[in-house]
Amino acid sequence: MNVVLVTGGTGLVGRAIQNVIENDKRENEKWIFIGSKDADLSDKESTRKLFEHHKPTHVIHLAAMVGGLFHNMSHNLDFLRNNIYMNDNVLHTAHENNVVKVVSCLSTCIFPDKISYPIDETMVHNGPPHSSNYGYSHAKRLIDIANRGYYDQHGRLYTSVIPCNVFGPHDNFHPNDSHVIPGLMRRLYDLCKDGNTEDKVFTVLGSGKPLRQFIYSIDLAKLIIWVLREYESVEPIILSVDEAQEKSIAQVAETLAQTFNFKGKVMYDTSAADGQFKKTASNAKLRKYLPDFQFTPFEQAIKETVDWYIKNYDQARN
Ligand code: NAP
Ligand code: GDP
Repeated sequence: MNVVLVTGGTGLVGRAIQNVIENDKRENEKWIFIGSKDADLSDKESTRKLFEHHKPTHVIHLAAMVGGLFHNMSHNLDFLRNNIYMNDNVLHTAHENNVVKVVSCLSTCIFPDKISYPIDETMVHNGPPHSSNYGYSHAKRLIDIANRGYYDQHGRLYTSVIPCNVFGPHDNFHPNDSHVIPGLMRRLYDLCKDGNTEDKVFTVLGSGKPLRQFIYSIDLAKLIIWVLREYESVEPIILSVDEAQEKSIAQVAETLAQTFNFKGKVMYDTSAADGQFKKTASNAKLRKYLPDFQFTPFEQAIKETVDWYIKNYDQARN
């Protein structure tokens, strides 16, 4: 029996994996989803007890301090330290407990700032990250270094995936630390709840010009499960929509405004930061393995997420 422990199992990606696995569980698999209430992974002893209790054979390591551009800019040190502790505790405790496979999560926002496009998996360590999120980036890059070390010294198959920007149900919608899609959804919801009228102003932070690739959390969940079951390499793999699916923040804001049927005006606050202009990543490696994988169309995924948010507003992470 394979016992799969999912850290960060209560978050955006973890809840999507729970959702997919409900219909795709194999007979030889037992899945365990844990959040910060079950163990503080930044604490070694707490991590040790968790592994001792569940005795996993496989780990999907999603737990992390995660946040949008503005939270990263103001908390680089916390992102660095919390994530270094969590990653080291999870990987080393997995090794001590003979876990056969660990899949950890990097992100396309950890790549070098000055780089040629499209970005691919070989470029993770080729230069300093963007100054807005150097703490998160360096902590995440160290996962790849550790994975190589666990392979070289101990023959372990500990690998990583590199998702582009993710969105979907169970995201973090809190105004202070959310990513752009949940942040804008929360603002539109609040604007519309007391009357969706023409005098309302929907403010988007920055110029609206930066470009991003967005993956629906359900699609990412399917791909991470595939990596756990089928991908047999320590080398990271980018899990992203195609390059042609890249959107400007203004396109995202317009799609959201249309989905909410927003009747007011859209304004851009150009005094706020844009962050990295783009981080266009190639999914050619993924496409070699899964040429026919169908990503959910962006508008459909946004509609499903908005519908979920409106229905679950009271229980959502606001
Ligand atoms: P999320 O929704 O913020 O969830 C974070 C998860 O980590 C939660 O389950 C949280 O538990 C858990 N956690 C945080 N601190 C912990 C601690 N000290 N001990 C134990 N658990 C802790 O994040 P997400 O968006 O799903 O991200 C999942 C992974 O994908 C992360 O590794 C992230 O870096 C990566 N990623 C995300 C994006 C994105 O756009 N969101 C893009 C690329 C990569 P509680 O909720 O129970 O507190
Ligand atoms: P990033 O991909 O790591 O930069 O993550 P974000 O999702 O935080 O931000 C993406 C882009 O959206 C940046 O160019 C921001 O300036 C822009 N943006 C516009 N409005 C918002 C907002 O309300 N919250 C966040 N986080 N970003 C916003």
